Amino acid sequence: MPYAYDDQNIFARILRGEIPNDTVLETEHTLAFNDIAPQAPVHVLVIPKGPYVCHDHFALEASDAEIADFTRTVGEICRMKGIRPGEGGEGYRLIVNSGEHGVQEVPHMHVHILAGRNLGRMLA
Ligand code: 5GP
Repeated sequence: MPYAYDDQNIFARILRGEIPNDTVLETEHTLAFNDIAPQAPVHVLVIPKGPYVCHDHFALEASDAEIADFTRTVGEICRMKGIRPGEGGEGYRLIVNSGEHGVQEVPHMHVHILAGRNLGRMLA
């Protein structure tokens, strides 16, 4: 069954400029902004501008250009924030909640970039 995108979700409204956001970086296909309820000193949300519900929807149906732009933007934010382990930063975690069991609240694909404190182990 194809995904049905709800264009009234909060990130769709942010993309249309109906709700303000604290933009970190914007590119042709991608928008990154600070989370409204940060869980770490760095908590950036990265979203594709296209109408993708969750990660697999984006990964399987977005164009190569959208995917490349998105992936590069995540990396660029890590560079901007000084959190790249390879450049003396202390690292980060990416989280992509998808669907009900992933406890995804906003049905527009997004990656959380979390950094700035030790995030602890999630997996045993
Ligand atoms: P999810 O649980 O869907 O992976 O994460 C949704 C995230 O969106 C949460 O971390 C929440 O704090 C954030 N969020 C929800 N509404 C808004 C909003 O209006 N603005 C911003 N910047 N973040 C939001």
